Amino acid sequence: MPAPGVKARVDRFWRAIRRLKTISEVGEERFVDNEDLIDAAERNLQVAVEATIDVGEALIARAKNIIENNGGKVLVSHRVEKILVENGRVTGVRARGKVYRSPIVVANANAKTTFLELVGEENLDREFVEYIRNLRMSPSAFMVFLGVDMDLSGYPSLIKNLDEGFGIIINSNADPSLAPKGMASVTLITLANYYDFPERGTREYLEKKKEMAEALISKAEKVIPGLSKHIVALDAATPKTFEHYTLMPEGAIYAFDQSVGVKRPYFKTPVKGLYLASASTFPGGGIEAVVISGIICANDICGWKR
Ligand SMILES: Cc1cc2nc3c(=O)[nH]c(=O)nc-3n(C[C@H](O)[C@H](O)[C@H](O)COP(=O)(O)OP(=O)(O)OC[C@H]3O[C@@H](n4cnc5c(N)ncnc54)[C@H](O)[C@@H]3O)c2cc1C
Repeated sequence: MPAPGVKARVDRFWRAIRRLKTISEVGEERFVDNEDLIDAAERNLQVAVEATIDVGEALIARAKNIIENNGGKVLVSHRVEKILVENGRVTGVRARGKVYRSPIVVANANAKTTFLELVGEENLDREFVEYIRNLRMSPSAFMVFLGVDMDLSGYPSLIKNLDEGFGIIINSNADPSLAPKGMASVTLITLANYYDFPERGTREYLEKKKEMAEALISKAEKVIPGLSKHIVALDAATPKTFEHYTLMPEGAIYAFDQSVGVKRPYFKTPVKGLYLASASTFPGGGIEAVVISGIICANDICGWKR
């Protein structure tokens, strides 16, 4: 049963979706000529997006409450240094020098980090270590974050240029609280290779970042004329930035290569009591997929009892 706050937000989401469905039933021809319907569709889409964001935040707070109300503790900024294993069975973790004992550990870090660094090769058989070592990472991304003094509310929130391989996300069209009125928050994204970037913080790295940001902005300018003249805030992120902040090897966006035929590690690991719940395991990278992996893992640990 969702908490009242979450339920109100979910109800608001579905009310907006139902209104959108009713609007869609008038048909495209009547819709495009009717300003009132277009306004109503935009307003309801806005409400649905805002409710989705609110639900995400409320769910995190709720998950923390559930854990704490059941005697658990949520520790932030505690990097796990070691997953402890005795006789093929997990016994806990060590973080900030302190040992936390547990017969079950669910690892959310990438499987290469989990097995090769945290569990340690000495606790695994050689064939499994080779399999993990040889898994190819997925591509990473290069992103530019812009604050612009332009009203971009006439553009869609998401524009994809498949020919040139980049996307434009106008965040403030999905959530107006992200920019003052008449201004916009914009993200540009393209796929990138980790090994194309020098070491973070070096002159070469900063130059490469600047060059790539300028190139991406000039591509986006073909879609949003005048964009480069209206930038009031600019930052960029490379695969090395993603690696630094998320601890994902190579800053990979989907953990491992998502090609057909790539066998991700099973969520039950060769170490008894150690599970994976992340983009490293089935069904793969992406927000929905990692949530599914968490649901599978939790149900298995709880014996699939309802
Ligand atoms: C730039 C970018 C854009 C993306 N765009 C989309 C998109 O549009 N749609 C979509 O569906 N997906 C997108 N993804 C992919 C999606 O974000 C990921 O697949 C998903 O977040 C992975 O979830 P996860 O739980 O496996 O890992 P993460 O969300 O990376 O969580 C792993 C956590 O483990 C922590 N950790 C690692 N090592 C340790 C340690 N030793 N001790 C303690 N904690 C540790 C990390 O700090 C991190 O918080 C994008 C990813 C990136 C990088």
